[in-house]
Amino acid sequence: MATGGFITIRVTCLGSGSSGNCILIQHHGRALLVDAGFTASRLTQLLRERRVVPGDLDAVLVSHEHSDHIRGVDVLARRFGTTVVANDATLRRVPSPGRRFSSTLLPTGSTVSIGPFEVASFPVSHDAAEPVGYIVGVGGYQVAVATDLGYGSPHVLEAVALADLAVVEANHDVDHLIGGPYPWHLKRRILSENGHLSNRQSAEIIADALTARRQTYWLAHLSRTNNTTSLAEQGVREFLDSHGLAADVAVLERDRPSLIWEPESTGPG
Ligand SMILES: [Zn+2]
Ligand SMILES: [Zn+2]
Repeated sequence: MATGGFITIRVTCLGSGSSGNCILIQHHGRALLVDAGFTASRLTQLLRERRVVPGDLDAVLVSHEHSDHIRGVDVLARRFGTTVVANDATLRRVPSPGRRFSSTLLPTGSTVSIGPFEVASFPVSHDAAEPVGYIVGVGGYQVAVATDLGYGSPHVLEAVALADLAVVEANHDVDHLIGGPYPWHLKRRILSENGHLSNRQSAEIIADALTARRQTYWLAHLSRTNNTTSLAEQGVREFLDSHGLAADVAVLERDRPSLIWEPESTGPG
């Protein structure tokens, strides 16, 4: 691996939840985003604070067209020339006056190389046109992102099992959701196979995916109304404990940058 001032590999969560989702993956001076759910000005500020020039991004991978995932995509693409990577159904739904931006069509289930990043998508079940999760291979590591999905399909389990870092949704606690203030039609939507993963479903996916290798799990996309950080973390830990399993699990903040994953820190350089 190269040494010096470049970051070997770093994954940073810039936000996770209905007010905006964005994961920054950096490797040797190169960078890409998985989703860009903030306004362009907020996103630009968050990137600059991390010494990432928006115009230098290799790509933004789009999981699906809900606004908490694409709010900044159009401006990022048009103002900074960032390449938008998505399947056709999602790409058509990214708002873009004049469609003057560069894009890479990635049919669901296929793979593309973008600079040092090997990007593959996999289908997930969610109430969007053609939602996907991503697995990004870089520097010998695999990072999987699976948020906004109703259940853990074999595709999801396979991606999470492959990953050294897996970002997995833990949207709600089922009892909180059912007893909470949401109207019934919305509760039913969230609980459906096209909705969002509960803490329990997230735990089951992690338990299924665990391998002997060291893996890190970030619990993502927590609901402000129907979950708490401690409910998600405890729920997953207790489930794993009860099955004699242990994993490196941490919870992402909703509204601000939170966790950083750096498997090979080269120290200050
Ligand atoms: Zn979302
Ligand atoms: Zn969504």
